[in-house]
Amino acid sequence: MSGAPLLTVRDLVAGYGNAAPVLRSVSFDVEPGSITAVVGANGAGKTTLMRALSGLIRPAAGELRFDDVDLREVPVERRVRHGLAHVPQGHGVVAELTVDENLRLGGLWRRDRADARRAVAEVYEMFEPLALRRRHAGHQLSGGERQMLALGRALVGRPRLLLLDEPSLGLAPKAVAQTMALLRRLRDESAVAVLLAEQSLRGALSVADRGIVMSQGQLVFTAPAKDLRDNPHLRQLYLGF
Ligand code: ATP
Repeated sequence: MSGAPLLTVRDLVAGYGNAAPVLRSVSFDVEPGSITAVVGANGAGKTTLMRALSGLIRPAAGELRFDDVDLREVPVERRVRHGLAHVPQGHGVVAELTVDENLRLGGLWRRDRADARRAVAEVYEMFEPLALRRRHAGHQLSGGERQMLALGRALVGRPRLLLLDEPSLGLAPKAVAQTMALLRRLRDESAVAVLLAEQSLRGALSVADRGIVMSQGQLVFTAPAKDLRDNPHLRQLYLGF
């Protein structure tokens, strides 16, 4: 991959309130149409990183560029209009609304109503189980289906970068494999870039182009995912398996 990065993160410092920052000088790039896995133990700072990128928390310092835009100048509710979609941990599906209502919610802000409708139709094509359950409420879905719906809802906004926080959490291994296959398709067929925070290292590294290893709020290592997958020494050193 070549050309300008889609996302540039430089010396990012962020955390909560007056406590010591969680993220300490984190720097990395995300290339357009690539999958980057952010791996690291519980509490390493993966969720905090996602929140700082989507604007849910305000960085104390550092640079965040998305294309030509200084993200720090863009309020959280406008970042999605720039093509940045965040699917938080726990998925964020509205349990009382139907599958169809959840999907349409994902396009409510879009001016191009016709394209928003097209995007919903495409999600149904991509996720057959959702098409079969259009009128089911969110709470009637399985964990895997809820994950699909959360992803589908984000896709209705036609993102260029998806921030996915632990999409495999609580899913059966088969559903994890399906989710990873889907991310691969999104990258290959729609050139969507994905930043994927995961504790499920094998799953994440199986689809990722690049791996970022975080520990205690710092980026301790980054390499092509293939190297992290295939090099037992690196795996042992940074991933502990
Ligand atoms: P996990 O896999 O458990 O989600 P993580 O790598 O995503 O872990 P974070 O959730 O970003 O890690 O947590 C990093 C640190 O930030 C932890 O020490 C945690 O206690 C702290 N933290 C997380 N959320 C908050 C919050 N809302 N307020 C204060 N501290 C928080």
